[in-house]
Amino acid sequence: MARAFIISVGDELLSGRTTDTNATWLSNELRVVGFPVVGRETVGDDREAVAQALRRGAEAADVVIVSGGLGPTADDLTRHGLAEALGVRCERHEGAVAQIRAMFERAGRELTPANLEQANLPAGSTPLHNEWGSAPGIRAELAGALLLALPGVPRELKKMTAARVLPLLAEHPARGESPARRSVTVVGMPESEAGSLLEDLMERGRDPSVGSYPGVAQLVLVIEGSDAAAVSRDLEAIKARLGDAVVGEGDCSLQAVVTELLIATGTTIAVAESLTGGRIADLLVSVPGASSVFKAGFVAYANEMKADVLGVRSETLDAHGAVSEPCAREMAEGARRVAGADVALATTGIAGPTGAVSGKLVGTVFIALASADGTDVRRFRLVGDRMQIRERAAAAALDLLRKRLSRTGSEAG
Ligand code: AMP
Ligand code: MG
Repeated sequence: MARAFIISVGDELLSGRTTDTNATWLSNELRVVGFPVVGRETVGDDREAVAQALRRGAEAADVVIVSGGLGPTADDLTRHGLAEALGVRCERHEGAVAQIRAMFERAGRELTPANLEQANLPAGSTPLHNEWGSAPGIRAELAGALLLALPGVPRELKKMTAARVLPLLAEHPARGESPARRSVTVVGMPESEAGSLLEDLMERGRDPSVGSYPGVAQLVLVIEGSDAAAVSRDLEAIKARLGDAVVGEGDCSLQAVVTELLIATGTTIAVAESLTGGRIADLLVSVPGASSVFKAGFVAYANEMKADVLGVRSETLDAHGAVSEPCAREMAEGARRVAGADVALATTGIAGPTGAVSGKLVGTVFIALASADGTDVRRFRLVGDRMQIRERAAAAALDLLRKRLSRTGSEAG
């Protein structure tokens, strides 16, 4: 099996000023073409540190990708680190000079001596033409490993990977099989519960492997294996076991699924939000095409607004408080009536960290779904900090609607 190693170069990565998105992105790109990453290192802009990391990378892997430090300034030392590791000097590469000149001519920019520094490559190495920036990449070999140095600017690195790196890897003798890969998105089921339902599939060392990647309000399960048919079988088994907690295949968004269902069933919607503060409306309108189904969102935070705008009765607020089943019900019914929508969602709850009242702890959330068939109210006890509770409440509301609409859809169909 082919192995890859990534070296990220830059003082800004070590200090924490810049997040190393290149390494994360590269890891994924390399894995899917059959070069799983077996190690990563981050080093500063330091010739000796780059050289040492290169030696370790060449020892550990068949291909070493270096990101960053190819620029024109004095702190861009990757080419010198490469030369040091290879035991050669840097020398002017006429092919690279021509590429850099052509690039500046095209851009109508003045060529400076600093830019020509980028044509100094370790003796015996080859430039990788960069049409998207001024610094060519560098290709060399060390201890049987292929070394590929790329510019650190993420856009250039991505273009260079697609145009220069992947074709080289495609014909690399150590290349492994690209794994087959499928995934599903799950909402409303904690990772631990999914884990226990899928325990046998998630066993370590199994092929296919099933990995779980939790976000704040959803979980992505990734199935990867050497045999596409076995991966598909696992996918079907997961869908059957998790039932309607599976929102869809791939890395899909709950709001997109809900909006599609609203459009498909010709259902218009309004939302009345307290603790989610507009988040549900924001999620829905982020989906293209939302205007054909989304009628209005009301952020009714103060009790007077719940009463004046949505028609929540003062007796309800006095007897039960704003965080209550009857208040959520009247909010949803009010939003539906005021907006003239087919369905309405409402949220009211305690996002914390303060605000717990007797019998209602932080994370207590009531979610109502009003429709022509009546109003369904659920009580949730969500966990997390303020941001997480609000995000999970928004997801729980959308998920309630998703389940209702997909049931209606399948009954109708
Ligand atoms: P360099 O190629 O080292 O001159 O880097 C150019 C710019 O690319 C830096 O100023 C950073 O903003 C960005 N950059 C460098 N390395 C990375 C990385 N590993 N991840 C994300 N951005 C990076
Ligand atoms: Mg740099």
